[in-house]
Amino acid sequence: MPAIIAPRGTRDILPAESWKWSYIINTASKTMTDFGFREIHLPVFEHTELFARGVGETTDIVEKEMYTFNDRGGRSITLRPEATAGVMRAAIENNLCAQGASAKLWNWGPMFRHERPQKGRYRQFYQIDAECLGISGAMADVEVIALSIEIFRRLGLKNLEVVINSVGCEKCRPVYRQKLVDYFSAHLGELCETCKDRLNRNPLRILDCKKESCGRVSDGAPDIFDSLCDECREHFAEVRSGLERLGFTYTLNKRLVRGLDYYTKTAYEILSGDLGAQNAVAGGGRYDNLASAIGGAKIPGVGFACGLDRVALVMEEQGCSFGEMPAVTVYCVALDNESRGAVQVLTHKFRTEGISAECDTSGRGFKAQMKSAGSCKFACIIGADERANNSVAVKNLSDGSQISIPVDEAVTYIKERM
Ligand SMILES: [Zn+2]
Ligand SMILES: [Zn+2]
Repeated sequence: MPAIIAPRGTRDILPAESWKWSYIINTASKTMTDFGFREIHLPVFEHTELFARGVGETTDIVEKEMYTFNDRGGRSITLRPEATAGVMRAAIENNLCAQGASAKLWNWGPMFRHERPQKGRYRQFYQIDAECLGISGAMADVEVIALSIEIFRRLGLKNLEVVINSVGCEKCRPVYRQKLVDYFSAHLGELCETCKDRLNRNPLRILDCKKESCGRVSDGAPDIFDSLCDECREHFAEVRSGLERLGFTYTLNKRLVRGLDYYTKTAYEILSGDLGAQNAVAGGGRYDNLASAIGGAKIPGVGFACGLDRVALVMEEQGCSFGEMPAVTVYCVALDNESRGAVQVLTHKFRTEGISAECDTSGRGFKAQMKSAGSCKFACIIGADERANNSVAVKNLSDGSQISIPVDEAVTYIKERM
C-alpha cells in the first residue's frame, strides 16, 4: 500500500519553520495589544450562507474556491475562505457592537481556498487578521492601516509599498459600475474570457485582472475618483491626510478593488517587491455593508488580513531576523545505566524551574548522549561517584571547563550562567 501523503495545496509546518511562525505571531500579537486590539478565537467552519451573502455570490472565492460540503445533518458547511465575515458574525451574535459600542478584534489561523497552488500560496493558508467594528469615521481606517504597517516594521520587512484606493459606497458605486460596463462593452474583444464573463456580474474585478491585454484596456477605464459621492470623497481625503500626519507614504491606485464584494470606501494593500506578481503581504479596507448583508444591524467596519505564509517567505528572502531559535540549555547525561533515574530527576528539576533541559530516554550510551549535548550550553553528568556524594559534574560546552558541584545547587548554578 502506498503511504498516505498530505492533500495537494497543504503542507506541514515543521519545527525548523514553526519557531519562525511563532516569532511572527508573537510580534503581531504584541503589536495588536499595543494598538488596543484583543484576540478572539472563531470556528474554522461556518454556514455556507455567511460567505455567500457576506463575501458575495459573484466573487471568485464563492463561485470557485470554497470548500463546501453537507455535514451529517444535511447542513451546508464551508471551511472559512477568509476571516472578516466570521468576525462580523461573531460580533453580531455576541452583541459586541450593541448601542453604538465598538470592538477591536484580532485573530490568526488557517483559511481554505481551492486555488491552484504556487509559491507562497496554499489551499490551507494562514492569516493574521484585525478588524475594527462599529466606527464609521476615517480615523479608524488610518489606525488599521498604521497597525498593519507597524507589524511589518517590527518584523523588519523592507521595500514595502502601501497602495490605497476608494471603491465608493452603495450610493456612488452603482454609477461607477455602469460607467465601467459601458466602457468595457466597447472594448469587449480585447478582454480575456474571464473578464468577458465578469462584465455584467462584477465589472470592478476586470480592473484587477492580471492579463496584459485586460490591463491595457483598464488603463483607459473611467476613474473611480470622478464617480465618488461627496461623503466618500471626504472620507478618502481624511484617510489620506491622517496617513500623512503619521508620516506614512502611500501610492494611489484606482485599479485596486480587492476580490471581495463587501468593501466600501477605503481599500488598501501592502505590497512587497520580493514576491513577483503575487506581491500583496496584507490587504484590507472598509466594509460598511457587510453586517447588513449577513443579516445584522448596520455595523461599520474596517480591517486587514496578512498572509502568514507569504510574510515568512518575504522575511526569509530579505534575511530578516526571526529572533533566536529555541535551544536546549542543559543536557543531562548518564555515565552508566544505574544513573539514568537520577539524570531524569535532575532534568525534571531544571524543567520545573524554567530551564530548558533534555536527557536521553532511549537507553543510548554515554558517547551518544554527549553528542546530543553538543548543541547545548551545559552538560550535567551523573555517574556512580556523583550518586554516591550527591553531586553533579557540570561541563561548560562552550569552553570545555568542568566542575563538580552539589546536585542541589545545579539549578542556581545554571541560572546564574544562562
Ligand atoms: Zn459614496
Ligand atoms: Zn481579464
